[in-house]
Amino acid sequence: MSKIRFNALGEILNRKPVRIEETGKRSEMFGVNVFNEDAMRQYLTKDAYKSVQDAIFKGVKIDRKIADQVAASMKDWAMSKGATHYTHWFQPLTGATAEKHDAFFETIEGGRAVEKFDGGQLVQQEPDASSFPNGGIRNTFEARGYTAWDPTSAAFIYGTTLCIPTIFVAYTGEALDNKAPLLRALQAMDQAATAVAKYFDKNVSKVNATLGWEQEYFLIDSALAASRPDITLTGRTLLGHSPAKGQQLDDHYFGSIPNRVMSFMRDLEQECMLLGIPVKTRHNEVAPNQFELAPIFEEANLAVDHNSLLMDVMEKVSKRHHYKVLFHEKPFAGINGSGKHNNWSLSTDTGVNLLSPGKTPMKNLQFLTFFVNTIKAVCDYEELVRASIASASNDHRLGANEAPPAIISVFIGSQLSAVLDELENVTKGKLSPEEKTDLKLNIVGKIPEILLDNTDRNRTSPFAFTGNKFELRAVGSWSNCAGPMTVLNTIVAKQLKEFKKEVDVLVDKKNLKKDEAVFNILREYIKASKKIRFEGDGYGDAWQKEAKKRGLSNNKTTPEALKAQISKEAIALFEEMEVMSKVEVEARHEIELDEYTLRIQIESRTLGDIARNHVIPTAIRYQNTLIENVKGLKEIFGNNFTKQASEQIDLIEKISNHIAEINSKVNSMINERKKANKLEGQKAADAYCNKIKPFFDDIRYHCDKLEMMIDDELWPLIKYREMLFFK
Ligand code: ADP
Ligand code: MG
Repeated sequence: MSKIRFNALGEILNRKPVRIEETGKRSEMFGVNVFNEDAMRQYLTKDAYKSVQDAIFKGVKIDRKIADQVAASMKDWAMSKGATHYTHWFQPLTGATAEKHDAFFETIEGGRAVEKFDGGQLVQQEPDASSFPNGGIRNTFEARGYTAWDPTSAAFIYGTTLCIPTIFVAYTGEALDNKAPLLRALQAMDQAATAVAKYFDKNVSKVNATLGWEQEYFLIDSALAASRPDITLTGRTLLGHSPAKGQQLDDHYFGSIPNRVMSFMRDLEQECMLLGIPVKTRHNEVAPNQFELAPIFEEANLAVDHNSLLMDVMEKVSKRHHYKVLFHEKPFAGINGSGKHNNWSLSTDTGVNLLSPGKTPMKNLQFLTFFVNTIKAVCDYEELVRASIASASNDHRLGANEAPPAIISVFIGSQLSAVLDELENVTKGKLSPEEKTDLKLNIVGKIPEILLDNTDRNRTSPFAFTGNKFELRAVGSWSNCAGPMTVLNTIVAKQLKEFKKEVDVLVDKKNLKKDEAVFNILREYIKASKKIRFEGDGYGDAWQKEAKKRGLSNNKTTPEALKAQISKEAIALFEEMEVMSKVEVEARHEIELDEYTLRIQIESRTLGDIARNHVIPTAIRYQNTLIENVKGLKEIFGNNFTKQASEQIDLIEKISNHIAEINSKVNSMINERKKANKLEGQKAADAYCNKIKPFFDDIRYHCDKLEMMIDDELWPLIKYREMLFFK
């Protein structure tokens, strides 16, 4: 084991990838490239180690001198593993991750050189921020941005570079990335949840939000994918007739994993092990060439980093195996899309999952408290939750009868529904001793540790309770989990803060016992949040109608959904919980709207180009062959040729019609684009959504018809059946 020098992506070192078969147990590989506790113990002085631990677990600031020590040790550790460079690794608002590599190497007097890395370089850097989106923040404040070390997410070696997880903020303090608001939301959650958890156990001093994501993706042979301009430029197919065989036989989900895919997965998992990403499950998904991978859950900040890192690793490893990995939520029409379920819970430093029913009535009251508060929070801020998962690509999935609808609702299962129904009848104010006993023994005491509904899940629900955690299923496969995790933790933190205030009033002013007060407030919350609970089929039309009656939002498009981000309530919420200032909220909103506009604009241009440069010329070429053929038939059959050539003449006519339709629609689309490009912000996004995007289906329809008519040998684009069934 010790003779092999590990790096997460072996080929960068010009070394053949280390195979799992050669290296033995995964547990021995786990975290080898991470500056984790073991590495810290080995490399840091006692003082430095304690400082870093305090920073991680208590948020204590690290002293500059100690930072110098930590940096020097990190460098020694990294160099011992072959690293030559370091980078501040961060997550800009564009979704991907960003890195700018600097060498440890530095020259000193006398023409000599040393390897150097000090506390200043570890703690703060100034990337050239001008090319990252900032939503007007930097222009307004004429400030530059800097990255700052986040010690709660461990440094790691990626290739030959030491990566230091950082947040990215403007000099004036505004967050310019996905992570800074997430960390603030997690802090707010810790404060609010710890205060409430203390009702039940005085020893709780910290509550962590936990996240276990499940990443779905497609693998397509890279040569085939590269031949499609739409996949290359937009991550999805903009046209392509559905194949004769799709997913109707359901034979992929239960099928064995193809060998080439398996070798990709093993390679990927090995890299994940080295990087400390605890991947655990892998399997085929519903659609052909669709797969899923999930880790063991972790503290939410770390889990978010690991998901972002994973997506990058997947792209690199897929290249090794000549695959292109598609993260787009809907790469193929008519075939299931991909999501990223976010399993979320709360866990105390005393080792208790606050969303897990327990053995005693007290434990169950604690469970109910966090359970009901979560439901109430989602009910009050359902539009904000919807906004947090909105993107141009996820719009294809939400509401498309394969993924949760755009309506946010909560599924809890029949057992817990019954418990909440009973709790609704608790007497107001003081409880009689009999009622208290009844509650404890017959209602709260009867919540079983293992819930039946855990096995009987409602797949159509966007936010489902699954036994000991909630599962936010509407998150897109391409998105950064930081967005939805920031919102979910902020709204639940706010709710718990409110809850504590209300309970304390009943205890202090109305002389209620603590558990009586808790029952009283929960009863009110259960009533107030009833409309968000839905146990039925989320795909059905009936639910659309019912949800409307209940007053739930149904924001089907991103430009519509994003409005909730800047509502008065949302801004007040983020400011109160110190997660984002008004400026930050507005900047984010602007960036997300722009991103939407740009993505649809790119799709529109790409589709226009493919239709004009690939489809129409091919159609004309084939039509010319037909015309030649008809002319020949006329020579042979004379007057009788129309009978002999009737099929061909029919095709010639149809092809002409489709070409004419495509031409006129592409022209109209371009016209609309010209108009839209004069607009900004909400107006531009609305125009792209309502005026330009509707052309996509029309243009596609005619292109796909042509695909079915034209000689397969001439068709210039790789077809669905080739991409989806080539393993
Ligand atoms: P499945 O959904 O396949 O039955 P599980 O219910 O065990 O499997 O878990 C699904 C996902 O939920 C996994 O990615 C796991 O890491 C995550 N998960 C399990 N417990 C928690 C928790 N307490 N907090 C966050 N995520 C969790
Ligand atoms: Mg799931």
